[in-house]
Amino acid sequence: MPHYSLTLPDARAVHIRLNAEALTLSIDELLIYTFDLAGRLIGAFDHGVNYRRGLDGRVLARWRDERNRRQRRWLSADEAQALLTKMRGELEVISKQYSVNSIQYSVIGGDETEYGIRNTHHEVAAVMARALDFDYVADIRRFHQVYRPISILPPDQYQALVLQATEGCSFNTCTFCALYRDRPFRIKTPAEFEQHVADVLAFFGPGVSMRRSLFLADANALIIPQKRLLPLMQITARAFPILPEGLDAAARRAWLDEHPHGMTGVFAFVDGLSAERKTVDDFRQLRALGLRRVYIGLESGHEPLLAWLRKPSTAAEMIEAVGRMKAAGLQIGVIVLLGAGGRRFDAGHVQDTAAALDAMPLDGDDIIYFSPFQPDPAAPYLSIARAEGVDIPDDAFMAAQRQRILDRLTLPPPPAGPKRVPYNLADFVY
Ligand code: SF4
Repeated sequence: MPHYSLTLPDARAVHIRLNAEALTLSIDELLIYTFDLAGRLIGAFDHGVNYRRGLDGRVLARWRDERNRRQRRWLSADEAQALLTKMRGELEVISKQYSVNSIQYSVIGGDETEYGIRNTHHEVAAVMARALDFDYVADIRRFHQVYRPISILPPDQYQALVLQATEGCSFNTCTFCALYRDRPFRIKTPAEFEQHVADVLAFFGPGVSMRRSLFLADANALIIPQKRLLPLMQITARAFPILPEGLDAAARRAWLDEHPHGMTGVFAFVDGLSAERKTVDDFRQLRALGLRRVYIGLESGHEPLLAWLRKPSTAAEMIEAVGRMKAAGLQIGVIVLLGAGGRRFDAGHVQDTAAALDAMPLDGDDIIYFSPFQPDPAAPYLSIARAEGVDIPDDAFMAAQRQRILDRLTLPPPPAGPKRVPYNLADFVY
């Protein structure tokens, strides 16, 4: 992959890298900008602070403080605008310096012809030109026309191409969750969904190359009755080549290189009740159409806590559902909610959650996510907890609870057993 470098009039060194997914500009390695191939700023790094820009224009800043603790905050609209203004100023200077004669290049990989390098040189110029002209106001407006708010994704799907086959959550009962209370639940018709897919592709433009998986949203798209879901899955399968299963790492990479718009699979949340309504064969049919991993919010294995949280399904139902999905060859992501129910439910939560996870046939393809409780003022949890004298957990309590659950688990560690991964909702940006 060619890697260009140049020197700015103020003597700062710029390194430019273009691959099939993104353009990255690094100035003295202290200031880094990443754009998708439509020229849309996706992320930045400025003297120790990471910025992640969402498609809705909001920007999350993350850094480590003097005691090496992770910090984060959302920028104000003015700060987000200042980030774009600074980026444009830098980009203008860089693109002026960028010409065939002023560039030194090195080739990593060594199989680029001179024609290939010059070709890529023009592609870099084209993406930089798009980045300079990028109309963020129009882009945000278009984003809101194409999508309902994208409330949350699993951490390994933050870069997915989201397709909203449904809107909202069909339950909206869980006391800790207000993610989808802003919209009624509905299922799109095949015609609507086909139009949505076309609108999504038009919205992303060349930037779609950064997205290598499909996430079937919103909260529980797999609740769609099988007869109505199959045509929607067939639409995704027609629109995107899906990586065949069973390839080794090298074959996987080769397939993805050969299919610039190919996707690693379809991913979706599911809840216990929705999974209950599907048979192993139903899940097999979905897998044949590209479904790869399903994410289920267990939250806890402790039935009294699940009832207190008003989860729509029991732990026993979720264990059974995971068994059925594994039997169909799907990968599973199980989400555990740390700190839920505070000290009142702590002992039962630890004991029964470890037992529930152990009762699931999870293996090295699967992931257990530990998600710290985040008080949401729009959800009823806080007022219920206050009225019942249930404490709100702090970070130390939740970290200790996570460790106690892990200590009780008898599932093998990776690679034979599931990965154990943090899932902090506060890090989510789409
Ligand atoms: S936790 Fe899941 S099932 Fe419960 S209200 Fe939120 S999105 Fe719906």
